[in-house]
Amino acid sequence: MPTYIFGHTTPDSDSIIGAIALSYLKNKLGEETVAVRQGEINPETAFILEKFGADAPAFKDSFAGESVYLVDFSDIAQSPKDIKEATILGIVDHHKLGDITTATPLECWIRPVGCSNTIIKQMYDYHEVAIPQDIAGMMLCAILSDTVIFKSPTCTKEDTKACKELAKIAQIEEYKALGMEMFVVKSNLLNATPRELVLRDFKDFTMGDKRIGIGQLEVVDLSLFDTIKEALFEAMESLKVEGERDSILLLLTDIMQEGSQLLVVSDEEATIAQAFDTTLTSHQVWLAGVMSRKKQIVPFLEKAF
Ligand code: MG
Ligand code: MG
Ligand code: MG
Repeated sequence: MPTYIFGHTTPDSDSIIGAIALSYLKNKLGEETVAVRQGEINPETAFILEKFGADAPAFKDSFAGESVYLVDFSDIAQSPKDIKEATILGIVDHHKLGDITTATPLECWIRPVGCSNTIIKQMYDYHEVAIPQDIAGMMLCAILSDTVIFKSPTCTKEDTKACKELAKIAQIEEYKALGMEMFVVKSNLLNATPRELVLRDFKDFTMGDKRIGIGQLEVVDLSLFDTIKEALFEAMESLKVEGERDSILLLLTDIMQEGSQLLVVSDEEATIAQAFDTTLTSHQVWLAGVMSRKKQIVPFLEKAF
């Protein structure tokens, strides 16, 4: 029976590429592993897979009785429903430590860098395994995505160093241009319903006794949302009710202006406004300089709730 490697629910590029890259490394080290995914491939990830000629991992969301590695998360809320019945052999992540625990010792690579793929690059170096050209290109893209082409406050020197080395292996000189090309793909909001857009990069968190869902859309121009904002609010409202959530937040991040318009649907709007030391107008506010959900949104909400 192989060991399965997968990222969080509503997988992003880091989750998908991380599973592929870690699986290749583990297989080289003599373990039998298979990369899988817990959800649909988003347009950005589809672009990356196509660019480097890779197949998407198969869908699988049940792991009772099986061995697994987790990439890019350690929260039960972002796990398959039967994660407690699986044996977790290891975690590779760059988020705050979540609430997953294990019954047996595990391999843990959790570091405060901008992307799980930066850590996986370091794992390849540690084990002295060569990264294939196509996997290097995809890992490069995942890091450019997670760090918003190095603009995110989560980006570290280790991420920029990893990108330089991966770009060399992938033989890509203009890698910032590649990053920009990727974000233009990401900015295409056509062919998606408002509900799909809210859920495109969406995570649930448990804070105190509250269940809070936070989505984020990163685009090259905020005005893309002008005509669909009301529809986004409606989709957020129904997701709040259906998911029995106390709040839904949506970050509309403008990567050129380097800030986010925060949309809020919540029973506790005042607490949320207070968390960011601001006031909301029509359930929204512009947060200058805010680009990272992980570093600039979640910690403040956890404190407030
Ligand atoms: Mg992620
Ligand atoms: Mg990540
Ligand atoms: Mg992200």
